[in-house]
Amino acid sequence: MNPIGIFGGTFDPIHYGHLRTAFEMLQALRFAEVRFVPSGDPPHRNSTYAPASLRLEMVRAATANETSFVVDDCELQRSGPSYSVDTLAALRGQHPAASLSLIVGMDAFLGLTSWYRWEEILNYAHIVVAHRPGWRAPDIGALGELISAHGTHRVDDLHEQTNGRIYIHAVTQLEISSTEIRELVMAGRDPRFLMPDVVRDIIVKSHCYATGESI
Ligand code: ATP
Repeated sequence: MNPIGIFGGTFDPIHYGHLRTAFEMLQALRFAEVRFVPSGDPPHRNSTYAPASLRLEMVRAATANETSFVVDDCELQRSGPSYSVDTLAALRGQHPAASLSLIVGMDAFLGLTSWYRWEEILNYAHIVVAHRPGWRAPDIGALGELISAHGTHRVDDLHEQTNGRIYIHAVTQLEISSTEIRELVMAGRDPRFLMPDVVRDIIVKSHCYATGESI
C-alpha cells in the first residue's frame, strides 16, 4: 500500500504552520505523499478572502519544491459546498486499496461533529490529528467516544488498514494562523517569514488581502 495523507484547508493563505505540519506527518507517518486539497467553497465560512483560484495558486507555489507534496484541485472542480466526505469518497473511488489519512489540526478535529455526514468519514479514511498549541484531545462526548472506539498509537495500523482509525500526533508548534496573516497585511505590515516568499509575492502582487501599497 502507498499510504496517502490528505490535507484539506481553506489555505487563505497557506503558511508554515500548514507546511511544517504536512512535512512532519509525511515523515513520521511514512506517507507516500501528502495531497493538499484547497477548499473551493468552505461550508464553515461565510466567504473566503482570496478567491479559490488564487488560494490554489498559493498552495501550488508553496509546495512546488517538495516532490511528496501533491496539490489536488478536486474541490474547485465541484460545484456547491466543499464537503470533506465527498472528497474522501471520490479519493476512495480512485484508490480503492490505499490507506487514506485525513490530516486535521486539533481545532478542526474538535469541530468534527458539525461536519456534513461526519459519521461516514472513517468509512473512507483514517483521521490523523495534529496537536496545536492550547488544544486538548477530548475524553468525553461524541469525540471522546470516537477516540476510544477508533484511536490507535500504532503508525502500522494506519498502513495495515485502509481507513477507520484515529491517530493523534504532536507536531512542532508553530502558532501561525491565516487569520493573523490577513490581519497583518490589512494593517499594512509585512507577513514575511510566516510563509514561503513565493506566497508572500502572490499576496503583494494580487492585493488579495489589502489594497494598500505598504508591503
Ligand atoms: P484561519 O485562521 O483562516 O482559520 P488556519 O490558519 O487555521 O486559517 P486553515 O486553512 O483553516 O488555516 O487550516 C487548514 C488545516 O490546517 C486545519 O486542519 C487546521 O487545523 C490546520 N492548521 C492551521 N494552522 C495550523 C498550525 N499553525 N499548525 C498546525 N496545523 C494548522
